[in-house]
Amino acid sequence: MYLYNSATHKKEEFQTHTPGRVEMYTCGPTVYHFAHIGNLRSYIMEDVLEKFLRYSGYDVNRVMNITDVGHLTSDADEGEDKMLKGAKRENKTVMDIAKFYTDAFFADCAKLNIKTPDVVEPATNCIDNYITIVSRLVETGRAYVAGGNVYFDTSKLDRYYVFNDHNEENLAVGVREGVEEDTNKRNKNDFVLWFTKSKFEDQALKWDSPWGVGYPGWHIECTGISLKHNGEYLDLHCGGVDNAFPHHTNEIAQSEAFLGHPWCKQWFHVAHLNTNDGKMSKSKGEFLTVSLLEEKGYDPLAYRWFCLQSHYRKALVFTWENLDNAVAAFNKLIARIAGLKPEGEVEQEVFDQYKAKFLQQMGNDLNTSMGVTAIFDVLKAQTTDATKLALLADFDTVLSLGLIEKAAAKRAELAAQQTAKTECGYTVTGEGDPAIDALVMARYEAKKAKNFAEADRIRDELKAQGIEIVDTKDGAAWKRV
Ligand code: AMP
Ligand code: ZN
Repeated sequence: MYLYNSATHKKEEFQTHTPGRVEMYTCGPTVYHFAHIGNLRSYIMEDVLEKFLRYSGYDVNRVMNITDVGHLTSDADEGEDKMLKGAKRENKTVMDIAKFYTDAFFADCAKLNIKTPDVVEPATNCIDNYITIVSRLVETGRAYVAGGNVYFDTSKLDRYYVFNDHNEENLAVGVREGVEEDTNKRNKNDFVLWFTKSKFEDQALKWDSPWGVGYPGWHIECTGISLKHNGEYLDLHCGGVDNAFPHHTNEIAQSEAFLGHPWCKQWFHVAHLNTNDGKMSKSKGEFLTVSLLEEKGYDPLAYRWFCLQSHYRKALVFTWENLDNAVAAFNKLIARIAGLKPEGEVEQEVFDQYKAKFLQQMGNDLNTSMGVTAIFDVLKAQTTDATKLALLADFDTVLSLGLIEKAAAKRAELAAQQTAKTECGYTVTGEGDPAIDALVMARYEAKKAKNFAEADRIRDELKAQGIEIVDTKDGAAWKRV
């Protein structure tokens, strides 16, 4: 597989420390509110990546943290604490907020067919691990105590801006914007590993440490959790592109300073989902959640389909109109699959040929839009329906669009409609294609309602598909001409 590595700025052949095994880490959600569908775009694409690695034969150990402590609203270790903000907003304790929004996050993931990672670890579970790491960093002179907090010393690094397609000056300006300077820092990029002197006097969660009672900085949690569950060598680290700096940059700095060797080879960053007004937000404009999609009548998997049509490294604009277009295409696809009959033998040669193409296209930097195209290629293939269904089921172990289940539901729905109509005396006979049967039924309904224009329109639509309808004594029969 070839994957773009944001640490080297190149598409590279995917490699792992232990052959056949992938140690994978994903920055999890900050559980102070519902995830927006932008957050979930990142998790959908990471889910496809994980499943594609398994599909390619790797054994994957995927670890995710849950940020249930700290994580300030500014990425510069300053600003407001998001968890406290959530607790104040809802008049609950921080732990209640964390529990509620962790459950809500995984409920959203389930609706989007996002698999739960092998290990999910709340940040508050690993305080001892952070203390061990920070202690060693202080002992080896890679971190210092100032004003009651422990800071990582970035001046000792050979290279700090690992993802150096970012411009150092712009970043520095962005980070400081609207934020008072922390005078304890020796260097502008130094960051807090452990807080004891917090601006937040009412900080709910605090632990004892060699530097006093306090709580960990945001970045150290991902290092601590990954080292605990992935070991010293990480193969693949994922997150949204906003996490590249300073979060991932700081993770690399502290992990490598602690380990004394390179830590993670490959970095996978998902570009943002934006709205027409720009950045997606939980506080401004419409708060776009999975629940909102459902309230508006959308199937969450249609949103997954919408995401898969674009490459993960390209920013994607969300509008209701764009989603509607995706839904129309998705429904059409399901109707086509519903028309397949599990008849005939699976032609192994054809199966292998299409599977190899899917592997190659998806293996080219996770090209999901080509993965989607592969579905249509299968539908057009000169082979048995059984082969097509087997291929679609196979691809769907990666794409997770529920293709087979949805098609079965569609078939049942159409069959139920047909039975109902048959009971009222109108029978459609044909090749047993539910989508076409439904159109013939719709033409009958239109005629019955004296809507002849609609009936003619449907007849023409069928004609354009090469289908002719012949009225029979108890209904209609259709055939391909
Ligand atoms: P957070 O809950 O803020 O820690 O974010 C969870 C994940 O969503 C992180 O990997 C972020 O980088 C990612 N993320 C945040 N905003 C967006 C967005 N608009 N589009 C895609 N991913 C995002
Ligand atoms: Zn992280």
